[in-house]
Amino acid sequence: MSEHASSRLGADDGHLDGNAAGGLLRELFAVDVTAADATCASCATTGPVGALVAYGHRMGAVLRCPRCAAPVLRVVRTPTGHWLDLSGARVVRVRALTDAAPPPA
Ligand SMILES: [Zn+2]
Repeated sequence: MSEHASSRLGADDGHLDGNAAGGLLRELFAVDVTAADATCASCATTGPVGALVAYGHRMGAVLRCPRCAAPVLRVVRTPTGHWLDLSGARVVRVRALTDAAPPPA
């Protein structure tokens, strides 16, 4: 079965949501990437990285589209560095600071 062949992601297949990879992504980026919007290259669904479906979490993670199950983002930590594959994302938008909610008064 190819990575694109799994049609639906079941609730009992051991996956977590994309927020499970937040700590790993914070090692790589100065911004919280889980709040960025990613557009799936396969089906064009757009949503927060934190809403993607995450598999694995020890050395890395594969974050899949919740609609079509295609891999959108892959990140792996090795002794020599981090590897980030965004080939499954048509585009990733990191919101400008002005889009963020104002700090509490
Ligand atoms: Zn998709």
